[in-house]
Amino acid sequence: MSDATLTRRTAGELAALLQAGEVSSVEVTRAHLDRVAEVDDAVHAFLHVSEENALATAQAVDAARAAGEHLHGLAGVPIAVKDVVVTKGLPTTAGSRILEGWVPPYDATIVERLRASGLPILGKTNLDEFAMGSSTEHSGYGPTRNPWDLDRIPGGSGGGSAAAVAAYEAPLAIGTDTGGSIRQPAAVTGTVGVKPTYGGVSRYGLIALASSLDQAGPVSRSVLDAALLHEVIGGHDPRDSTSLPDALPDVVGAAHDREVRGLRVGVVRELTGEGYQAGVRASFEAAVGLLADAGAEVVEVSCPSFASALAAYYLILPSEASSNLARFDGMRYGLRVEPATGPVTAERVMAATRGAGFGDEAKRRIILGTYALSAGYYDAYYGSAQKVRTLIQRDFAAAFDVADVLVSPTAPTTAFKLGEKLDDPLAMYLNDVATIPANLAGVPGMSLPSGLSDDGLPVGFQILAPARADDRLYRVG
Ligand code: GLN
Repeated sequence: MSDATLTRRTAGELAALLQAGEVSSVEVTRAHLDRVAEVDDAVHAFLHVSEENALATAQAVDAARAAGEHLHGLAGVPIAVKDVVVTKGLPTTAGSRILEGWVPPYDATIVERLRASGLPILGKTNLDEFAMGSSTEHSGYGPTRNPWDLDRIPGGSGGGSAAAVAAYEAPLAIGTDTGGSIRQPAAVTGTVGVKPTYGGVSRYGLIALASSLDQAGPVSRSVLDAALLHEVIGGHDPRDSTSLPDALPDVVGAAHDREVRGLRVGVVRELTGEGYQAGVRASFEAAVGLLADAGAEVVEVSCPSFASALAAYYLILPSEASSNLARFDGMRYGLRVEPATGPVTAERVMAATRGAGFGDEAKRRIILGTYALSAGYYDAYYGSAQKVRTLIQRDFAAAFDVADVLVSPTAPTTAFKLGEKLDDPLAMYLNDVATIPANLAGVPGMSLPSGLSDDGLPVGFQILAPARADDRLYRVG
Protein backbone atom coordinates (compact mmCIF):
# COMPACT_ATOMS: atom_id res chain seq x y z
CA MET A 1 0.00 0.00 0.00
CA SER A 2 1.50 3.35 -0.99
CA ASP A 3 2.00 6.08 1.57
CA ALA A 4 -0.36 8.43 -0.24
CA THR A 5 -3.13 5.86 0.09
CA LEU A 6 -2.52 5.57 3.83
CA THR A 7 -2.88 9.27 4.51
CA ARG A 8 -6.22 9.36 2.65
CA ARG A 9 -7.76 6.76 4.99
CA THR A 10 -10.05 7.57 7.89
CA ALA A 11 -8.92 6.69 11.40
CA GLY A 12 -11.49 3.88 11.51
CA GLU A 13 -10.10 2.39 8.29
CA LEU A 14 -6.52 2.68 9.54
CA ALA A 15 -7.51 0.98 12.80
CA ALA A 16 -9.00 -1.94 10.85
CA LEU A 17 -5.87 -2.28 8.69
CA LEU A 18 -3.68 -2.23 11.79
CA GLN A 19 -5.81 -4.81 13.56
CA ALA A 20 -5.72 -7.09 10.51
CA GLY A 21 -1.92 -6.80 10.43
CA GLU A 22 -2.01 -5.38 6.88
CA VAL A 23 0.01 -2.39 7.88
CA SER A 24 2.16 -1.42 10.87
CA SER A 25 1.79 1.67 13.02
CA VAL A 26 5.33 2.67 12.05
CA GLU A 27 4.27 2.67 8.38
CA VAL A 28 1.10 4.66 9.09
CA THR A 29 2.95 7.16 11.30
CA ARG A 30 5.82 7.49 8.82
CA ALA A 31 3.35 8.15 5.99
CA HIS A 32 1.80 11.02 7.92
CA LEU A 33 5.19 12.46 8.94
CA ASP A 34 6.19 12.36 5.26
CA ARG A 35 3.00 14.17 4.35
CA VAL A 36 3.78 16.83 6.97
CA ALA A 37 7.27 17.25 5.47
CA GLU A 38 5.70 17.56 2.02
CA VAL A 39 2.97 20.13 2.66
CA ASP A 40 3.47 21.86 5.98
CA ASP A 41 5.85 24.54 4.73
CA ALA A 42 2.86 25.85 2.80
CA VAL A 43 0.04 25.03 5.25
CA HIS A 44 1.87 25.66 8.56
CA ALA A 45 -0.53 23.56 10.61
CA PHE A 46 2.21 22.45 13.01
CA LEU A 47 4.25 24.46 15.50
CA HIS A 48 6.22 21.42 16.54
CA VAL A 49 6.59 18.00 14.91
CA SER A 50 7.48 15.23 17.35
CA GLU A 51 8.80 12.67 14.89
CA GLU A 52 10.98 10.68 17.28
CA ASN A 53 8.32 10.51 19.95
CA ALA A 54 5.59 9.48 17.49
CA LEU A 55 7.72 6.74 15.95
CA ALA A 56 8.69 5.42 19.39
CA THR A 57 5.00 5.06 20.29
CA ALA A 58 4.31 3.42 16.93
CA GLN A 59 7.13 0.93 17.46
CA ALA A 60 5.88 0.10 20.94
CA VAL A 61 2.35 -0.50 19.61
CA ASP A 62 3.64 -2.72 16.81
CA ALA A 63 5.71 -4.75 19.29
CA ALA A 64 2.77 -5.13 21.66
CA ARG A 65 0.53 -6.25 18.80
CA ALA A 66 3.14 -8.78 17.65
CA ALA A 67 3.27 -10.11 21.22
CA GLY A 68 -0.49 -10.65 21.15
CA GLU A 69 -1.29 -8.03 23.79
CA HIS A 70 -4.80 -6.64 24.01
CA LEU A 71 -4.75 -3.15 22.47
CA HIS A 72 -7.17 -0.26 22.24
CA GLY A 73 -9.13 -0.15 18.95
CA LEU A 74 -7.35 3.02 17.81
CA ALA A 75 -3.88 1.89 18.95
CA GLY A 76 -1.29 2.86 16.37
CA VAL A 77 -3.42 5.57 14.65
CA PRO A 78 -1.51 8.89 14.82
CA ILE A 79 -2.95 12.16 16.03
CA ALA A 80 -2.11 15.88 16.17
CA VAL A 81 -2.72 17.92 19.34
CA LYS A 82 -3.60 21.62 19.55
CA ASP A 83 -0.74 23.46 21.20
CA VAL A 84 -2.87 24.75 24.05
CA VAL A 85 -2.95 21.26 25.59
CA VAL A 86 0.08 20.45 27.72
CA THR A 87 2.29 17.53 26.71
CA LYS A 88 5.06 16.23 28.94
CA GLY A 89 8.42 16.57 27.22
CA LEU A 90 6.97 18.29 24.12
CA PRO A 91 7.05 22.09 23.81
CA THR A 92 3.72 23.81 24.46
CA THR A 93 3.27 27.48 23.54
CA ALA A 94 -0.48 28.21 23.37
CA GLY A 95 0.49 30.08 20.19
CA SER A 96 2.14 32.75 22.33
CA ARG A 97 5.68 34.08 22.39
CA ILE A 98 5.30 34.33 26.15
CA LEU A 99 5.56 30.52 26.39
CA GLU A 100 8.24 30.05 23.74
CA GLY A 101 10.56 27.22 24.70
CA TRP A 102 8.44 26.00 27.61
CA VAL A 103 8.38 22.22 28.02
CA PRO A 104 5.60 21.08 30.38
CA PRO A 105 6.50 18.69 33.19
CA TYR A 106 3.17 16.83 32.94
CA ASP A 107 0.52 15.60 30.50
CA ALA A 108 -3.05 16.83 30.26
CA THR A 109 -5.52 14.06 31.14
CA ILE A 110 -6.61 13.78 27.53
CA VAL A 111 -2.98 13.38 26.43
CA GLU A 112 -2.47 10.72 29.10
CA ARG A 113 -5.47 8.91 27.64
CA LEU A 114 -4.15 9.20 24.08
CA ARG A 115 -0.82 7.78 25.18
CA ALA A 116 -2.41 5.00 27.22
CA SER A 117 -4.47 4.01 24.16
CA GLY A 118 -1.36 3.93 21.95
CA LEU A 119 -2.01 6.90 19.62
CA PRO A 120 1.32 8.29 18.36
CA ILE A 121 1.41 12.09 18.79
CA LEU A 122 2.65 13.63 15.53
CA GLY A 123 3.07 17.10 16.98
CA LYS A 124 1.46 20.27 18.24
CA THR A 125 -0.77 22.39 16.04
CA ASN A 126 -0.96 26.15 15.52
CA LEU A 127 -3.63 28.37 17.05
CA ASP A 128 -4.53 31.97 17.70
CA GLU A 129 -2.62 33.12 20.77
CA PHE A 130 -4.23 31.54 23.85
CA ALA A 131 -7.07 30.38 21.58
CA MET A 132 -8.35 33.94 21.03
CA GLY A 133 -9.46 34.34 17.45
CA SER A 134 -11.29 32.92 14.46
CA SER A 135 -8.56 32.80 11.82
CA THR A 136 -5.27 31.59 13.41
CA GLU A 137 -3.79 34.92 12.30
CA HIS A 138 -3.33 35.91 15.95
CA SER A 139 -0.73 33.16 16.46
CA GLY A 140 2.61 34.48 17.70
CA TYR A 141 4.25 32.15 15.17
CA GLY A 142 2.58 33.16 11.90
CA PRO A 143 -0.75 32.06 10.44
CA THR A 144 -1.91 28.64 9.26
CA ARG A 145 -3.34 28.52 5.74
CA ASN A 146 -6.47 26.80 4.52
CA PRO A 147 -5.57 23.73 2.43
CA TRP A 148 -8.56 24.49 0.14
CA ASP A 149 -7.03 27.84 -0.82
CA LEU A 150 -3.72 28.91 0.68
CA ASP A 151 -4.72 32.59 0.53
CA ARG A 152 -7.59 31.94 2.92
CA ILE A 153 -7.84 31.42 6.67
CA PRO A 154 -8.41 27.92 8.16
CA GLY A 155 -10.65 29.30 10.90
CA GLY A 156 -9.64 29.68 14.50
CA SER A 157 -8.57 29.39 17.04
CA GLY A 158 -7.90 25.75 16.13
CA GLY A 159 -6.92 26.39 12.51
CA GLY A 160 -3.84 24.19 12.87
CA SER A 161 -5.74 21.09 13.97
CA ALA A 162 -8.41 21.54 11.27
CA ALA A 163 -5.87 22.26 8.52
CA ALA A 164 -3.71 19.27 9.54
CA VAL A 165 -6.71 16.95 9.17
CA ALA A 166 -7.97 18.61 5.97
CA ALA A 167 -4.50 18.44 4.38
CA TYR A 168 -4.15 14.70 5.22
CA GLU A 169 -1.26 15.42 7.59
CA ALA A 170 -3.15 13.66 10.40
CA PRO A 171 -6.28 11.48 10.44
CA LEU A 172 -7.29 12.86 13.83
CA ALA A 173 -6.61 15.93 15.94
CA ILE A 174 -7.50 17.43 19.29
CA GLY A 175 -9.09 20.87 19.41
CA THR A 176 -10.49 23.13 22.11
CA ASP A 177 -13.69 25.13 21.84
CA THR A 178 -14.45 28.14 24.05
CA GLY A 179 -16.70 29.94 21.60
CA GLY A 180 -16.39 27.85 18.44
CA SER A 181 -12.70 27.07 18.00
CA ILE A 182 -13.32 23.43 17.11
CA ARG A 183 -16.52 23.92 15.08
CA GLN A 184 -15.75 27.04 13.02
CA PRO A 185 -12.36 25.77 11.76
CA ALA A 186 -14.07 22.47 10.92
CA ALA A 187 -16.69 24.39 8.94
CA VAL A 188 -14.26 26.35 6.80
CA THR A 189 -11.92 23.40 6.13
CA GLY A 190 -14.55 20.76 5.34
CA THR A 191 -13.77 18.63 8.39
CA VAL A 192 -15.74 17.33 11.38
CA GLY A 193 -15.35 18.98 14.78
CA VAL A 194 -17.15 18.28 18.02
CA LYS A 195 -17.45 20.37 21.17
CA PRO A 196 -18.60 17.89 23.83
CA THR A 197 -20.94 18.76 26.70
CA TYR A 198 -19.14 21.06 29.17
CA GLY A 199 -17.51 18.72 31.69
CA GLY A 200 -17.71 15.72 29.37
CA VAL A 201 -14.00 15.82 28.52
CA SER A 202 -11.38 16.70 31.14
CA ARG A 203 -9.95 20.24 31.18
CA TYR A 204 -6.99 19.18 33.34
CA GLY A 205 -3.88 20.29 31.46
CA LEU A 206 -5.66 22.66 29.06
CA ILE A 207 -4.06 26.10 29.24
CA ALA A 208 -7.14 28.00 30.40
CA LEU A 209 -8.73 30.73 28.30
CA ALA A 210 -12.20 31.04 29.89
CA SER A 211 -12.65 28.20 32.34
CA SER A 212 -16.45 28.23 32.37
CA LEU A 213 -16.54 27.84 28.56
CA ASP A 214 -13.43 25.82 27.55
CA GLN A 215 -13.94 22.29 26.28
CA ALA A 216 -11.61 19.95 24.38
CA GLY A 217 -12.90 17.68 21.64
CA PRO A 218 -12.24 15.70 18.47
CA VAL A 219 -11.36 16.87 14.94
CA SER A 220 -11.54 14.35 12.08
CA ARG A 221 -12.67 13.72 8.51
CA SER A 222 -15.63 11.49 9.39
CA VAL A 223 -18.34 11.50 12.05
CA LEU A 224 -17.44 7.96 13.10
CA ASP A 225 -13.79 8.95 13.57
CA ALA A 226 -14.84 11.81 15.83
CA ALA A 227 -16.90 9.37 17.92
CA LEU A 228 -13.99 6.92 18.19
CA LEU A 229 -11.74 9.72 19.45
CA HIS A 230 -14.43 11.16 21.73
CA GLU A 231 -14.61 7.77 23.44
CA VAL A 232 -10.85 7.77 24.07
CA ILE A 233 -10.70 11.25 25.63
CA GLY A 234 -14.13 11.51 27.29
CA GLY A 235 -15.41 10.51 30.71
CA HIS A 236 -14.91 11.51 34.32
CA ASP A 237 -11.61 12.89 35.58
CA PRO A 238 -11.21 13.42 39.35
CA ARG A 239 -8.50 16.05 38.62
CA ASP A 240 -11.03 18.38 36.95
CA SER A 241 -13.51 19.78 39.46
CA THR A 242 -16.06 20.50 36.71
CA SER A 243 -15.83 17.02 35.18
CA LEU A 244 -19.21 15.29 34.95
CA PRO A 245 -19.48 12.19 37.09
CA ASP A 246 -21.68 10.27 34.61
CA ALA A 247 -20.55 7.70 32.10
CA LEU A 248 -20.03 8.93 28.56
CA PRO A 249 -23.06 8.39 26.28
CA ASP A 250 -22.60 5.71 23.60
CA VAL A 251 -21.26 8.04 20.90
CA VAL A 252 -19.76 5.27 18.76
CA GLY A 253 -22.98 3.25 18.84
CA ALA A 254 -24.94 6.35 17.80
CA ALA A 255 -22.53 7.08 14.93
CA HIS A 256 -23.07 3.54 13.62
CA ASP A 257 -26.83 3.56 14.18
CA ARG A 258 -27.67 6.72 12.13
CA GLU A 259 -31.44 6.30 12.56
CA VAL A 260 -33.22 9.69 12.49
CA ARG A 261 -36.80 8.63 11.69
CA GLY A 262 -39.18 10.52 13.97
CA LEU A 263 -36.38 12.64 15.40
CA ARG A 264 -37.43 16.26 15.86
CA VAL A 265 -34.89 18.62 14.23
CA GLY A 266 -35.26 22.29 15.21
CA VAL A 267 -34.03 24.94 12.80
CA VAL A 268 -33.01 27.94 14.94
CA ARG A 269 -34.65 30.99 13.36
CA GLU A 270 -32.10 33.43 14.82
CA LEU A 271 -29.14 31.51 13.35
CA THR A 272 -30.09 31.66 9.69
CA GLY A 273 -31.18 34.29 7.22
CA GLU A 274 -29.75 37.79 7.28
CA GLY A 275 -25.97 37.99 7.64
CA TYR A 276 -25.41 34.49 6.27
CA GLN A 277 -23.78 34.14 2.85
CA ALA A 278 -26.25 32.94 0.19
CA GLY A 279 -24.19 29.86 -0.67
CA VAL A 280 -24.00 28.94 3.02
CA ARG A 281 -27.78 29.22 3.37
CA ALA A 282 -28.40 27.13 0.26
CA SER A 283 -26.08 24.37 1.51
CA PHE A 284 -27.73 24.46 4.93
CA GLU A 285 -31.24 24.21 3.49
CA ALA A 286 -30.21 21.30 1.27
CA ALA A 287 -28.84 19.46 4.31
CA VAL A 288 -32.04 20.05 6.28
CA GLY A 289 -33.89 18.64 3.26
CA LEU A 290 -31.77 15.48 3.47
CA LEU A 291 -32.69 15.04 7.12
CA ALA A 292 -36.39 15.40 6.24
CA ASP A 293 -35.96 12.82 3.45
CA ALA A 294 -34.39 10.45 5.98
CA GLY A 295 -37.54 10.70 8.10
CA ALA A 296 -36.70 13.46 10.58
CA GLU A 297 -39.45 15.87 11.57
CA VAL A 298 -38.22 19.40 10.85
CA VAL A 299 -39.63 22.20 13.01
CA GLU A 300 -38.69 25.85 13.45
CA VAL A 301 -37.66 27.07 16.89
CA SER A 302 -36.95 30.56 18.15
CA CYS A 303 -34.26 31.49 20.68
CA PRO A 304 -34.58 35.28 20.98
CA SER A 305 -31.80 35.72 23.54
CA PHE A 306 -29.22 34.33 21.09
CA ALA A 307 -29.15 37.87 19.66
CA SER A 308 -27.30 38.93 22.82
CA ALA A 309 -24.98 35.90 22.99
CA LEU A 310 -22.05 37.51 21.22
CA ALA A 311 -22.15 40.60 23.46
CA ALA A 312 -22.38 38.50 26.63
CA TYR A 313 -19.57 36.21 25.47
CA TYR A 314 -17.23 39.11 24.77
CA LEU A 315 -17.64 40.26 28.36
CA ILE A 316 -17.49 36.86 30.06
CA LEU A 317 -14.56 35.55 28.02
CA PRO A 318 -12.24 38.56 28.48
CA SER A 319 -13.13 38.69 32.19
CA GLU A 320 -12.13 35.08 32.74
CA ALA A 321 -9.16 35.39 30.38
CA SER A 322 -7.78 38.48 32.17
CA SER A 323 -7.73 36.45 35.36
CA ASN A 324 -6.37 33.23 33.82
CA LEU A 325 -3.60 35.01 31.94
CA ALA A 326 -2.35 36.76 35.08
CA ARG A 327 -0.10 33.75 35.72
CA PHE A 328 2.13 34.67 32.76
CA ASP A 329 4.24 37.11 34.71
CA GLY A 330 7.85 36.31 33.82
CA MET A 331 8.37 34.74 37.23
CA ARG A 332 7.09 31.20 36.90
CA TYR A 333 7.65 29.94 33.37
CA GLY A 334 8.22 31.05 29.83
CA LEU A 335 9.49 34.42 28.72
CA ARG A 336 11.19 36.81 31.15
CA VAL A 337 12.12 40.29 29.99
CA GLU A 338 13.90 42.81 32.17
CA PRO A 339 13.23 46.51 31.67
CA ALA A 340 15.77 48.16 29.36
CA THR A 341 16.46 50.93 31.82
CA GLY A 342 15.75 51.67 35.47
CA PRO A 343 15.37 49.39 38.47
CA VAL A 344 14.63 45.67 38.04
CA THR A 345 11.65 45.37 40.36
CA ALA A 346 9.12 42.52 40.18
CA GLU A 347 6.41 44.84 38.89
CA ARG A 348 8.64 46.26 36.16
CA VAL A 349 9.78 42.81 35.06
CA MET A 350 6.15 41.72 34.84
CA ALA A 351 5.25 44.77 32.77
CA ALA A 352 8.19 44.31 30.41
CA THR A 353 7.53 40.56 30.04
CA ARG A 354 3.82 40.92 29.38
CA GLY A 355 4.38 43.86 27.07
CA ALA A 356 6.82 41.89 24.96
CA GLY A 357 5.24 38.43 25.23
CA PHE A 358 1.54 39.03 24.52
CA GLY A 359 0.21 39.95 21.09
CA ASP A 360 -2.38 42.65 20.34
CA GLU A 361 -5.48 40.46 20.68
CA ALA A 362 -4.40 39.03 24.05
CA LYS A 363 -3.70 42.54 25.31
CA ARG A 364 -7.04 43.81 23.98
CA ARG A 365 -8.95 41.10 25.85
CA ILE A 366 -6.94 41.44 29.07
CA ILE A 367 -7.71 45.17 29.13
CA LEU A 368 -11.38 44.59 28.28
CA GLY A 369 -11.74 41.91 30.96
CA THR A 370 -9.95 43.90 33.63
CA TYR A 371 -12.25 46.84 32.91
CA ALA A 372 -15.41 44.69 32.96
CA LEU A 373 -14.44 43.23 36.34
CA SER A 374 -13.37 46.50 37.96
CA ALA A 375 -15.21 47.84 41.01
CA GLY A 376 -18.13 49.97 39.93
CA TYR A 377 -18.51 48.29 36.54
CA TYR A 378 -18.85 44.66 37.60
CA ASP A 379 -22.66 44.70 37.87
CA ALA A 380 -23.12 46.71 34.70
CA TYR A 381 -20.98 44.42 32.55
CA TYR A 382 -20.02 41.04 33.97
CA GLY A 383 -23.19 40.78 36.07
CA SER A 384 -25.43 41.64 33.11
CA ALA A 385 -23.61 39.20 30.86
CA GLN A 386 -24.21 36.42 33.38
CA LYS A 387 -27.93 37.23 33.32
CA VAL A 388 -27.95 36.95 29.52
CA ARG A 389 -26.25 33.60 29.95
CA THR A 390 -29.18 32.42 32.07
CA LEU A 391 -31.63 33.59 29.40
CA ILE A 392 -29.72 31.65 26.76
CA GLN A 393 -29.86 28.52 28.90
CA ARG A 394 -33.63 29.00 29.23
CA ASP A 395 -34.03 29.44 25.46
CA PHE A 396 -32.14 26.18 24.91
CA ALA A 397 -34.31 24.40 27.49
CA ALA A 398 -37.51 25.61 25.77
CA ALA A 399 -36.18 24.69 22.32
CA PHE A 400 -35.24 21.20 23.49
CA ASP A 401 -38.82 20.73 24.70
CA VAL A 402 -39.99 20.74 21.09
CA ALA A 403 -36.87 19.46 19.29
CA ASP A 404 -34.40 16.63 19.97
CA VAL A 405 -31.55 18.48 18.25
CA LEU A 406 -31.13 22.01 16.92
CA VAL A 407 -29.42 22.85 13.63
CA SER A 408 -27.89 25.92 11.97
CA PRO A 409 -25.02 26.85 9.71
CA THR A 410 -21.80 26.70 11.78
CA ALA A 411 -20.42 29.99 10.48
CA PRO A 412 -22.04 32.82 8.53
CA THR A 413 -19.50 32.71 5.69
CA THR A 414 -17.01 30.39 4.04
CA ALA A 415 -13.26 30.91 4.61
CA PHE A 416 -12.28 34.53 4.12
CA LYS A 417 -8.97 35.86 2.84
CA LEU A 418 -5.95 36.22 5.13
CA GLY A 419 -5.77 39.80 6.34
CA GLU A 420 -9.39 40.56 5.45
CA LYS A 421 -10.63 40.96 9.04
CA LEU A 422 -7.37 41.24 10.94
CA ASP A 423 -7.72 44.96 11.66
CA ASP A 424 -11.42 44.79 12.47
CA PRO A 425 -11.98 42.92 15.76
CA LEU A 426 -15.77 43.20 15.55
CA ALA A 427 -15.89 41.66 12.07
CA MET A 428 -13.66 38.87 13.40
CA TYR A 429 -15.89 38.30 16.44
CA LEU A 430 -19.00 37.98 14.23
CA ASN A 431 -17.72 34.66 12.86
CA ASP A 432 -18.70 33.10 16.18
CA VAL A 433 -22.31 34.23 16.22
CA ALA A 434 -23.72 30.73 15.68
CA THR A 435 -21.27 28.74 17.81
CA ILE A 436 -21.13 30.83 21.00
CA PRO A 437 -24.61 30.03 22.44
CA ALA A 438 -23.58 26.38 22.96
CA ASN A 439 -20.56 27.38 25.06
CA LEU A 440 -22.60 29.80 27.17
CA ALA A 441 -25.10 27.02 27.93
CA GLY A 442 -22.61 24.13 28.14
CA VAL A 443 -24.45 22.06 25.51
CA PRO A 444 -22.62 19.88 22.97
CA GLY A 445 -22.24 20.81 19.31
CA MET A 446 -20.86 19.34 16.10
CA SER A 447 -19.88 20.87 12.79
CA LEU A 448 -19.74 18.62 9.76
CA PRO A 449 -19.35 19.39 6.05
CA SER A 450 -22.57 19.99 4.12
CA GLY A 451 -20.89 20.37 0.74
CA LEU A 452 -19.54 23.43 -1.03
CA SER A 453 -20.87 26.94 -1.34
CA ASP A 454 -21.24 28.63 -4.73
CA ASP A 455 -17.70 29.97 -4.24
CA GLY A 456 -16.38 26.40 -4.22
CA LEU A 457 -15.45 26.48 -0.52
CA PRO A 458 -16.67 24.13 2.25
CA VAL A 459 -19.73 24.91 4.36
CA GLY A 460 -20.28 23.65 7.91
CA PHE A 461 -23.57 22.31 9.25
CA GLN A 462 -23.98 22.67 13.00
CA ILE A 463 -25.94 20.25 15.22
CA LEU A 464 -26.63 21.07 18.88
CA ALA A 465 -27.99 18.67 21.50
CA PRO A 466 -29.01 18.94 25.15
CA ALA A 467 -26.25 18.63 27.77
CA ARG A 468 -25.12 15.01 28.23
CA ALA A 469 -26.86 13.91 25.00
CA ASP A 470 -23.71 14.05 22.84
CA ASP A 471 -24.77 10.76 21.25
CA ARG A 472 -27.53 12.61 19.35
CA LEU A 473 -24.91 14.67 17.49
CA TYR A 474 -23.36 11.49 16.15
CA ARG A 475 -26.67 9.87 15.24
CA VAL A 476 -27.71 12.92 13.18
CA GLY A 477 -24.19 13.68 11.88
N1 GLN B 1 -13.26 32.73 18.02
C1 GLN B 1 -13.66 32.74 19.39
C2 GLN B 1 -12.88 33.76 20.16
O1 GLN B 1 -12.13 34.45 19.57
C3 GLN B 1 -13.59 31.38 19.95
C4 GLN B 1 -12.34 31.06 20.63
C5 GLN B 1 -12.31 29.65 21.13
O2 GLN B 1 -13.25 28.90 21.00
N2 GLN B 1 -11.20 29.31 21.75
O3 GLN B 1 -13.00 33.90 21.34
